[in-house]
Amino acid sequence: MKISERLDRIRGQIEQAAVQSGRNPDEITLVAVSKTQPLSAIEEAYEAGQRHFGENYPQELELKSAALVHLPDLVWHFIGRLQRNKIKIPWRDAHWLHTIDRVELWESLVARADQFPHERPDAMPPLQCLMQINADNDPSKAGFVIDDVQKISDAIALHTSPRLVVCGAMTIPSVGGDPEHAFHILRNMAASCGLGRMLSMGMSGDFEKAIACGSTMVRVGTAIFGERG
Ligand SMILES: *Cc1c(COP(=O)(O)O)cnc(C)c1O
Repeated sequence: MKISERLDRIRGQIEQAAVQSGRNPDEITLVAVSKTQPLSAIEEAYEAGQRHFGENYPQELELKSAALVHLPDLVWHFIGRLQRNKIKIPWRDAHWLHTIDRVELWESLVARADQFPHERPDAMPPLQCLMQINADNDPSKAGFVIDDVQKISDAIALHTSPRLVVCGAMTIPSVGGDPEHAFHILRNMAASCGLGRMLSMGMSGDFEKAIACGSTMVRVGTAIFGERG
């Protein structure tokens, strides 16, 4: 199947899942996860009307956003693990950062925004940030755990920048776990910490369940682009 056909199918599935749970499909953003995919695949999806793309590796985001700068309404989401020494790249190139998984990373980002505001082009809107939650309390996963509610609230109350906005939370359920359980925890955590209404949850295998649990952003890779090489 072509990328445009896969996109059509997924849009239909998103719409159906939304309607089945009494939600407006327009509340749900489809982020096409293009990590390891060539520029031509992103261009093909763009041609088919896709605008939001997710990348996991700073260097790859840097290269792809520079190469596709002629597509001005393209929206970049950084969804990978971020080391503090690589913060500059999403700060400059991304519209969304889904993976703030520890207080030190948030503090470094605020410091970057304060000290190097001009690295981010003036035309770029404030960087929209999501706190990553380790909903399954899985030692192999990054993110805040349920007991970190106060820690998160304090961090965002103490450190802020006008060019950063905390919009919500994201989670990656554990393989073999119960994704619906993780989605409910994410929703509760986002509410308890006052993070905002955006919930980034759901991937190729579970995005319909995530929508039933309130997802506003699904991150879909394989179901759009096929298996990664
Ligand atoms: C790779 C990745 C995805 C996409 O996963 P698929 O199963 O290919 O849809 C979503 N979210 C994150 C954080 C990822 O790293």
